[in-house]
Amino acid sequence: MKTGRWLSTAFGFVFLASITCLEQKVLSFSGNERHASPRSVELLPLRNPAKPTELEQAYLDSFSILKYKSPCSEFYGGSSAIAALNELTQQIRPTHLDRLIGIRMSGETTIIMSMLTGFTFRLFKKAEINLDGPFYRGNAFFGLERAPQIGPFEPNTREARVTTVLHELGHLIRGRDGQWLLPNDGENAGESEANTRRVLNVCGEEIRALHNISFEEELLGAQSAASLRPHAFNPSEE
Ligand SMILES: [Zn+2]
Repeated sequence: MKTGRWLSTAFGFVFLASITCLEQKVLSFSGNERHASPRSVELLPLRNPAKPTELEQAYLDSFSILKYKSPCSEFYGGSSAIAALNELTQQIRPTHLDRLIGIRMSGETTIIMSMLTGFTFRLFKKAEINLDGPFYRGNAFFGLERAPQIGPFEPNTREARVTTVLHELGHLIRGRDGQWLLPNDGENAGESEANTRRVLNVCGEEIRALHNISFEEELLGAQSAASLRPHAFNPSEE
């Protein structure tokens, strides 16, 4: 345990996404762009399906929430958003950051279009997951070194982790109005908290229901659902 390196005091907030690059150079198709592979909405292989890592667990939970129609899935643009989830997940690298940070995305952005669905999203150059933050670290004894909660969820819990991933995903996808689902929150804890509330407003029900399903069941469901046609905003094609 590395609790000795944590500083004290309790914070009711967390920088879920410290987007440090304020000058995003590419927000249109004029610069960096590429295509995601046609397989981009299928479940990524897990290193050890019998024992998924914390990140793989959060990925499985996010995948399972996005794949079926729900207000949460529709907020992200339907199951086509799995393409963005897959790219983000593959990009994430572990690092050591301030204990308030869950995942940090930074650097230039690239616009990516799924060849399968036409679904478009952006990726930041870097996505780092904090080994010292609330994704992995729970609360120490008696609150002396409290890690921040993620919304109402204790740190280092299934719910906190999936909320963190869904929060990041909201920075990568545009809504119908053309704006990013979640505005950049950079180093601003208040804005980050507000973004987490936005996620929980649409996805809280799905997140709270996760305890009813095991990762094994999710894995089976995800694999069987991988061959389904992705659904998008408009159900008229189905
Ligand atoms: Zn954020």
